Amino acid sequence: MGTRSEARPCKGCERDITVTDQQISRMVDRMRLNFECVNEENYRVRLSACQSCSSLMEGHTCAVCGCIVQVRALLADQDCPNAQGSRWA
Ligand code: SF4
Repeated sequence: MGTRSEARPCKGCERDITVTDQQISRMVDRMRLNFECVNEENYRVRLSACQSCSSLMEGHTCAVCGCIVQVRALLADQDCPNAQGSRWA
């Protein structure tokens, strides 16, 4: 079973949650072309909140919603799903 048994599963499936920086960059580029996005300042503020959040896994996945935060934080119609209230305020 090798690497599969060593990988941390996503909360919704058994796939490895590891995503490379290159994969994230491609997703972000696609989002910028196809969706309404926040400005760069808001994006940095949101990502900074994620970086200090205990729900962040592997530097990119939110344990609350399962999203890649670099993608979710970019989207204007999305908010932080933290149960105690948005950390992106
Ligand atoms: S709960 Fe909010 S701040 Fe924390 S990782 Fe998820 S999206 Fe980011």
